[in-house]
Amino acid sequence: MKTNRFRPTIKWLDYFKDIINVHCPNCNKKAQLLRKFDDQIIYRDSYEFQCNNCYVEIKEIEKFIYKVNRNCPFCPEVIHYKSTPTVKIKKEVEVICKGCKEKIRYIPKVESVYDWMQKGENVEFFYWFIEEFRGNIFWALNDKHLEYLENFVFAKLRQRTIEPYGMMLIDKLPQFIKDKKNRGELLKLISKMKEK
Ligand SMILES: [Zn+2]
Ligand SMILES: [Zn+2]
Repeated sequence: MKTNRFRPTIKWLDYFKDIINVHCPNCNKKAQLLRKFDDQIIYRDSYEFQCNNCYVEIKEIEKFIYKVNRNCPFCPEVIHYKSTPTVKIKKEVEVICKGCKEKIRYIPKVESVYDWMQKGENVEFFYWFIEEFRGNIFWALNDKHLEYLENFVFAKLRQRTIEPYGMMLIDKLPQFIKDKKNRGELLKLISKMKEK
């Protein structure tokens, strides 16, 4: 609902992160990443991909990076080894020392990374709501976030109550969104984006 008055009530961008609209990497239509709510804390939580147009299967796959940082037992060289991300589970890795060319087996340190994959190929996601605006990037995570920004830009009276809890989301908006002389053009852009 558009009103002339905008009262900030939302503190974190995380509030909007339950759904992230992206281009489907397969059919390019509007698709979404849906928060799984496995974890209470958003940055630790994972997402699942859903395209209601082509139903392509894209899954987040855990991969491992194996690392060794050790002094070579045969020469003064320090061994720094880092594998490329792999789905293989390894208890040991074989490393060749650059100094003495000796092959040495180590128990590596393991780090997990997550990659989105479609039939064995890595895929990247691109926001659905993203446009250039006078040299700036205007973007929104989803319809609700876009509407929030629209309400903010639309309001002639932007109230700023003194909050005891510090910064609100609107405090962090880039200046070009806050700039009242962009109001008309931004509203046009937003309504174009809503019809996409
Ligand atoms: Zn699709
Ligand atoms: Zn060595």
